[in-house]
Amino acid sequence: MDRFAINAPMQFWGCESRLPQGQAPVPGVAAPSLTQSRLVVGVWMDEAGPEIGRLIDMMAKLPGLGPRSARRAVLMMIRKKAVVMEPLARALDDVVATVRECRVCGNVGSAEICAICAAPKRATGVLCVVEDVADLWAMERGRAFGGRYHVLGGVLSALDGVGPEELRIPALLERVATEEISEVILALNATVDGQTTAHYIADQLEAAAVEITSLAQGVPIGGELDYLDDGTISAALRARRRF
Ligand SMILES: [Zn+2]
Repeated sequence: MDRFAINAPMQFWGCESRLPQGQAPVPGVAAPSLTQSRLVVGVWMDEAGPEIGRLIDMMAKLPGLGPRSARRAVLMMIRKKAVVMEPLARALDDVVATVRECRVCGNVGSAEICAICAAPKRATGVLCVVEDVADLWAMERGRAFGGRYHVLGGVLSALDGVGPEELRIPALLERVATEEISEVILALNATVDGQTTAHYIADQLEAAAVEITSLAQGVPIGGELDYLDDGTISAALRARRRF
């Protein structure tokens, strides 16, 4: 028997597939035509219902989730509708209604000025420049920084056509000029675009009476030298300090 002559729906990584055209159906089993059903991330909408299919389709586009994880998450929510799905829907509604960008730093929050910018205990003279809100949150998790932030909203990229005007770089220069800033910490990612952006900002701030610093690069806490790449080891060596 030819190995392709299988007369049943096939499962590939959890995704259903239909018989190749021209294959004879299993007696008693009606094979739905493609005009009756539409495949959405591995779930036939006619079987799951269009609403559930659409939810899975949208969730599969979220970072870190693929079709399989989206299906599992939606099934779990359906099974725990009262304790998971309904509170999640309410939380989404609340965020949709209130979320906005801080007009000072670009952080996200529910007020015109975010909680960090509005906090009186934060040092006002030190600005930490980050690429994205996720980086701001990462810095805050470290609990080591007591100043304020400036979120660029991306990095310069000639390849993607992202110039200074597409980012919040003009707003940063304006802040340095009008607020009493003594230090700008460039906490940008150690990627080519991140470092290009850091050099561009440093050039733009050259004339300003402000100290420009950047995060150290080197051996991570708990890291082993044998596992580090050559670039990290040489950066760590250059950034060595007195023991
Ligand atoms: Zn803010």
